Amino acid sequence: RQAAFRTDLSVLLDQVGTGKESLSFMKRRIRRLAQQWVTAANRLDAKLKQQWRDQKKILVHVGFLTEESGDVFSPKVLKGGPLGEMVQWADILTALHVLGHNLKISMSVKELQGFLGVPPGRGNCPLTGPLPFDLIYTDYHGLQQMKQHMGLSLKKHKCHIRVIDTFGTEPAYNHEEYATLHGYRTNWGYWNLNARQYMTMFPHTPDNSFMGFVSEELNDTEKRNIQQNKVNNMAVVYGKEASMWKQGKEGFLQILHRYMEVHGTVYYETQRPPEVPAFVKNHGLLPQHELQQLLRKAKLFIGFGFPYEGPAPLEAVANGCIFLQPKFRPPHSSLNHEFFRGKPTSREVSSQHPYAEQYIGRPHVVTVDYNNSLEFDAAIREIMRTKVEPYLPYEYTCEGMLERVHVYIQHQDFCAPEITGPLFVPLPSSIALGWASNVTAPRAWPPVTSLRLLISQEGQSCVEACQSAGFICEPAHFRFINNKEALLEVQCDVVDSEINHILPGFSVVRRECSLQREPLLFSCAGHSPKYRRLCPCRDFRYGQVALCRDCL
Ligand code: UDP
Repeated sequence: RQAAFRTDLSVLLDQVGTGKESLSFMKRRIRRLAQQWVTAANRLDAKLKQQWRDQKKILVHVGFLTEESGDVFSPKVLKGGPLGEMVQWADILTALHVLGHNLKISMSVKELQGFLGVPPGRGNCPLTGPLPFDLIYTDYHGLQQMKQHMGLSLKKHKCHIRVIDTFGTEPAYNHEEYATLHGYRTNWGYWNLNARQYMTMFPHTPDNSFMGFVSEELNDTEKRNIQQNKVNNMAVVYGKEASMWKQGKEGFLQILHRYMEVHGTVYYETQRPPEVPAFVKNHGLLPQHELQQLLRKAKLFIGFGFPYEGPAPLEAVANGCIFLQPKFRPPHSSLNHEFFRGKPTSREVSSQHPYAEQYIGRPHVVTVDYNNSLEFDAAIREIMRTKVEPYLPYEYTCEGMLERVHVYIQHQDFCAPEITGPLFVPLPSSIALGWASNVTAPRAWPPVTSLRLLISQEGQSCVEACQSAGFICEPAHFRFINNKEALLEVQCDVVDSEINHILPGFSVVRRECSLQREPLLFSCAGHSPKYRRLCPCRDFRYGQVALCRDCL
């Protein structure tokens, strides 16, 4: 069946259910952004020009909100707890609904069993028949629950699963045996999925798929009004929980206060939290639409280093604020910071919000060393002088999210056998860049025409190597460059194949080339001082990094 865009969200709102603060938060968000989704649906509909879209049967099982996982989030919705995940799930549900798919939503193990057709009371009885869904979106908690309640059949059906995974999972952590043998075992990884089945909140490592969420969009009149009504010396602090204000913040808060009126939205019960200085005008935790109003007036939105990589900085920039945030030197990672410890990634986080730093940057985002008070002071003065327009990257608009999710649903297929083979012609050039040949692989997605072969420096990952040439690493293309032909430009005495997430690549010292023997370990993120890597890069659409130019 063909999927038809939906512009009425009432069925979705009913499906989300009631009885928990998290659900109410999600429904308020869906209602508030409804008009924006409708406009986006109409635009994308026109853009796709009647392109056929299969209607899929989709189950969304929100594991972290189930009672069975302990649901620690719902009770904290009104108390300054994390809201990013709920923002994202609300937007995923809306996108799937608006795209016209056949959607079922489960927020408990009982509902999950019901939808999967596991007879009630038969606990972990494996699902024997066919899976009644084309796609299942869940999270790590949900995956665990499915393992318990689908038993052996999870293995058979796992190519249909997508895992919403805020911070991402790198291939080395996802491969059970490899992770166990090489010290990459964590509480989360080791599911042996294709790493692109993990979908992240921001485009972290391209080994995963970028799912994202949306932020509020403004029309031209609203933009003009905002710019006219900006209060140049008004700052809002990022951090809704008092603990985020603790320790060592007094110094730069004082500097900030020298120039600006400081506002906060810190949750409190009866009296002002002691962590928040008296000169701060604290509004308490605000409903989302009131926070937007505050951001519309403020000139500066300032981060203190935590929370990492949330939605709020994008909302601030979308409402015409400049986001000021600390640079992390050395970068934070699972090796040196409690928050990331045990997360299935070795990604190095260079600032509180690397996406804002790297994808947006000045004048909207200013990243400085907070330990250097001169630098900090100068940044505040620069911000007060700078005029900016509200800005939202296309990939965080409703249309951008719909476009991306539509393309994933129609083209990402982890169930079909993969096509492999040498599909490129290397060109003699100093950076050893190769172009995809005119050999075509009809089912390959992204299309092989987007492939650019590149060789990294020693110690450099393919994420960095591709980025430095203006491309992005595309893990789906590894299968086309994992062959001797791709190594033609490289002088190697031996070519062997091994199981190692750095491969394919070669050791300059030993003049040894190695191919990858385990496709699950193809990794953009991997790097090693001893290796130059073979990197499959691709082009991307401006403002929509998940999609190559010919991907739509
Ligand atoms: N938020 C809110 N009221 C506030 C402060 C934040 O509704 O007073 C919302 C904000 O609009 C954002 C969400 O909380 O969409 C998540 O914000 P954050 O970036 O702090 O990420 P988190 O750590 O909660 O995941």
